[in-house]
Amino acid sequence: MHKNWIAGQWLGSDNVQQNLNPSDLSDVVGEYVRASADDVEMAIASAHAAWPAWSLSTPQQRFDALDMVGTELLARKAELGELLAREEGKTLPEAIAEVGRAGQIFKFFAGEALRLEGEALASVRPGIQVEVSREPIGVVGIITPWNFPIAIPAWKIAPALAYGNCVVFKPADLVPGSAWALAEILSRSGLPEGVFNLVMGRGSVVGAAFIEDPRVEAITFTGSVPTGRQVLEQAAAGRKKVQLEMGGKNPLVVLDDANLETALDCTIQGAFYSTGQRCTASSRIIVQRGIYDQFTSELARRTQQLRVGHALRADTQIGPVSEAPQLEQNLSYIKIGKQEGARLLCGGEQLERDTNGFYFSPAVFADADSRMRIAQEEIFGPVATVIPADDYEHALALANDTEFGLSSGICTQSLKHAAHFKRSIQAGMVMVNVPTAGVDYHVPFGGRKGSSYGPREQGRYAREFFTVVKTAYTAA
Ligand code: NAD
Repeated sequence: MHKNWIAGQWLGSDNVQQNLNPSDLSDVVGEYVRASADDVEMAIASAHAAWPAWSLSTPQQRFDALDMVGTELLARKAELGELLAREEGKTLPEAIAEVGRAGQIFKFFAGEALRLEGEALASVRPGIQVEVSREPIGVVGIITPWNFPIAIPAWKIAPALAYGNCVVFKPADLVPGSAWALAEILSRSGLPEGVFNLVMGRGSVVGAAFIEDPRVEAITFTGSVPTGRQVLEQAAAGRKKVQLEMGGKNPLVVLDDANLETALDCTIQGAFYSTGQRCTASSRIIVQRGIYDQFTSELARRTQQLRVGHALRADTQIGPVSEAPQLEQNLSYIKIGKQEGARLLCGGEQLERDTNGFYFSPAVFADADSRMRIAQEEIFGPVATVIPADDYEHALALANDTEFGLSSGICTQSLKHAAHFKRSIQAGMVMVNVPTAGVDYHVPFGGRKGSSYGPREQGRYAREFFTVVKTAYTAA
């Protein structure tokens, strides 16, 4: 049985859940405890007690711990990737790459611990020196979703620790295995007792408990819009610092002058890989009329050739959907799209395979209107909605016609349109002839409008959330 890591020890509980493989429900990945309210209280108390000393730890201490975690993740990426693919359902190469990414993130933030500089300025008043420095915030509560079970925890935990904060970490209930494996490595990394705590369990019990606790100074959350809104409201009551990364409905514009191969690759990669379960997935494919018929018929042809199957099989391109409610959601949006009058070109069906899992064929809707629900709401599955556009200006207006603003993309060979699109799209990230999903770890990640709230994650920009600025005046 896999226990919680609280106050430097592994703590059990009577409340245990089975972690099931969505490719094969007869495969139990493991048993994981769920924390009680008392466990959360203990985790917060230990993090709070550990913080005064940890906030004064040297950059070398932080570097050593984070670097050790990064090295071990990279060395074990094949083994941990298999665990991740088993519990979440993304394909083995995708899962191994995700663990590798988590390792790179820990290495990056190990270095960032050494590079946290401040500023020294002359005062406007004589004889006074001004210093601006960054300090850790205190205890940070971390809440993560199920779709990147190790990379998202890594890109929150690593900067939190690098900048001298203590952590209480709650992974998604659906995928505790990768989070537990990461916590197990952290438990051997030399961090003092209480600096890092793992509390697996339900959001309504565990997450809600630490959002309300005054000893937790900041909450960083990634997940759905409704939960994010609730987290923000609760955290605001306690005047906490909050960072939210939520849903997306990311547009990919394909202009008449696009390279067809590039546009098809970007669409298939962005809309369907990782089973479409990425916040940065391309789900609004906006295509100019001159290339529209050729593009949609070739997209449908290639989509039908994608091999959907068990995440661990070598020939699988698209793994199963993560869980039964998500499969139901995908199927219900297929119905909605048909009722709204979009033309289903392929897919959208539950599939049988030789193991009992949540298999679903990638779907393409054509001739959609931007105001349809399938063009506006996050489906979070392998469903691409194609919307025709008259010209570049129309395509840009359609691309911005969404409440979200996470990622975006354009396929074109026109420098003029690419440059204009990069400036005019209302999104945190924009890709030119590159899929909307798939980002670097050393640069900022995050969105605008309904997708995000608070400072960016990742890269050097992570310090905006995980530190607080102090201005000191000294008279010589
Ligand atoms: P979710 O909102 O259901 O859950 C996210 C986390 O919040 C889980 O750990 C859950 O247990 C916890 N939680 C649930 N209720 C809570 C409460 N009342 N208080 C505190 N915590 C609570 O999201 P999900 O289904 O796990 O993930 C899918 C969503 O995540 C999608 O909308 C996707 O777009 C989004 N996502 C966004 C990004 C991004 O960076 N923008 C990245 C990945 C996923």
